Amino acid sequence: MKIAKNTVVTVNYKLSDAQDNLIEDGSQPMVYLHGGYENTLPKIEEELDGKEVGYSSIIQVEPDDAFGEYDSALVKVEPRSRLPEPLEVGMQFEGMPDSEDDEEAMIFTVTDIADDKVVLDGNHPLAGIALRFSLNVVDVRAATDEEMAHGHVHGAHGHHHGDEDDEGEAGDHVAIHPIH
Ligand SMILES: [Zn+2]
Repeated sequence: MKIAKNTVVTVNYKLSDAQDNLIEDGSQPMVYLHGGYENTLPKIEEELDGKEVGYSSIIQVEPDDAFGEYDSALVKVEPRSRLPEPLEVGMQFEGMPDSEDDEEAMIFTVTDIADDKVVLDGNHPLAGIALRFSLNVVDVRAATDEEMAHGHVHGAHGHHHGDEDDEGEAGDHVAIHPIH
């Protein structure tokens, strides 16, 4: 079966930067719904479209086509008291920074901790990095009607329903809760 819109694709992958420093060894395959559902990077879909099981390739994706350029305006300093303890550099939080325009929640990474201040970086950890993906297609199947309706894959490695994240803390200036 060829990869086309509304197929579920299982890909073994390795992710490194343009200097071949390994970022993720892809110990879990990526399983995604193909066809513009934003389950994976468009450049990956472009590369795999029309291919079959056994296809492998290496592609390089520039920051503009991946997680964006690094934006220093997304670095915030918050009072430490706003964040839960224990706190460590590298922890990630989902938050709404001064949401002037109803942007979607951003992920912040703690990059520095001082006595009473914490530096939160809203850039994606991979922002500003050219990414090199080594891809190997290991399975292609037709998506179910339900998967197409939901726009994501169900089942092993797919999306799990049932324990929705607690939402509804709207109103806080900065709604922050740990995601890891
Ligand atoms: Zn679903």
